[in-house]
Amino acid sequence: MIDHTLWLPYTQMQTTSTPIEIVASEEEYLITKQGTKLIDAIGSWWTSCYGYNHPAIVAAIQSQAETLPHVMLGGIVHPQAQRLAHRLKALLPADLNHVFFANTGSEAVEISMKMAIQYWLNQGQTRTQFVCFEQGYHGDTFYAMSVCDPVEGMHHIFKNALPKQLHTPIPRSKENLETFKTWLRLHKNQIAGVIIEPLVQGAGGMKMHTPQVLKEIDTVCKELDLLLIADEIFTGFGRTGSLFAINQAHVVPDIICLSKALTGGTLPLAAVIARTPIYEAFLSDNPEAALMHGPTYMGNAMACAAANAVLDLFSTEAWQENVQKIQTQLQNALVPLSNSAKVKEVRVLGAIGVVELQQNVAHDKAWFVKRFLESGIWLRPFGNIIYTTPCFNMRSINLQRITEAICKHIHDWKT
Ligand SMILES: *Cc1c(COP(=O)(O)O)cnc(C)c1O
Repeated sequence: MIDHTLWLPYTQMQTTSTPIEIVASEEEYLITKQGTKLIDAIGSWWTSCYGYNHPAIVAAIQSQAETLPHVMLGGIVHPQAQRLAHRLKALLPADLNHVFFANTGSEAVEISMKMAIQYWLNQGQTRTQFVCFEQGYHGDTFYAMSVCDPVEGMHHIFKNALPKQLHTPIPRSKENLETFKTWLRLHKNQIAGVIIEPLVQGAGGMKMHTPQVLKEIDTVCKELDLLLIADEIFTGFGRTGSLFAINQAHVVPDIICLSKALTGGTLPLAAVIARTPIYEAFLSDNPEAALMHGPTYMGNAMACAAANAVLDLFSTEAWQENVQKIQTQLQNALVPLSNSAKVKEVRVLGAIGVVELQQNVAHDKAWFVKRFLESGIWLRPFGNIIYTTPCFNMRSINLQRITEAICKHIHDWKT
């Protein structure tokens, strides 16, 4: 029986089957009420980059809970937030030096958009629209929804309630880039910013583009003096093979949004980091020129302690080699699927393996989930996508079980 008291996300509660109950976790495993160990193929929505219950992260949270679990960041600072801000600044390129904390990815996107709008306002310009890309996904709150793909996105039913943005395909060819440029010039004076998920668009369909395409978009933005917002909530912290996806294109966005893997899948935390010229536009004698935002739990000390422990892992673990190995294993195991008539395309980048099917699996989603559970794996397809985003320290034998199950269940699927 489904529990109608606990309302689940993106779920038609009338027809959904009873969700599985998870009572514990360890390493790359989720442990069910019945005691079954499932390999988590998607790392709790891409957050769990070092597996579950990592002792170093657990210890950091425990110790912080005993000293200072939380304090308001209004008029107060604390060492964990200060340390984390300085470390993020050091990890990011150029003058991405000013760190504003929040709790969720959607909120980070909202803040980045608010920052961009107020950046122009503080200079006497009213620019309120954003350029965003087809297949993009930036979150579930209203401004974030407005920059998601308007058709493919989960939010098309709200379209009449959303601010109108400037949606366009990612310019992948020279020709498209010229059209894109001309179109941007036309709208230039109303554009507060251009928002993009660098290299991999996540929840909007796991589409990828090359570093060169990203670099060209950045160059156009710089030419036209437009703010570039990089939403690295999915791609940040090693997922694409480099610490940040922007690193592969040598791009410095004006604002970058981080979340998901920041606390290694333990506590909610997000960060919006701005370049110095953006930050400086808020410095003024006028109190109203200050950034008008401040979530209650921003910079939560336990979450910052968890993130500091995760950054320690990024400096001590051989994550880059591990992600490289995962990429090779995913390529070897999944690319042969492109020969299947059911498969449209296989895409692999870093620790992301995507099989795009010819048909939407919406009606067979439960069938797939059940088959994967029988294989001892937690994997949830969406749209026409079956994908895996393993933690970076997953045993290769377990990754092999995932890719074998993907191949087998696609083979057995009656379309
Ligand atoms: C998940 C995600 C978000 C939204 O983050 P939430 O924490 O779910 O609000 C925004 N942008 C990207 C690219 C994401 O992957």
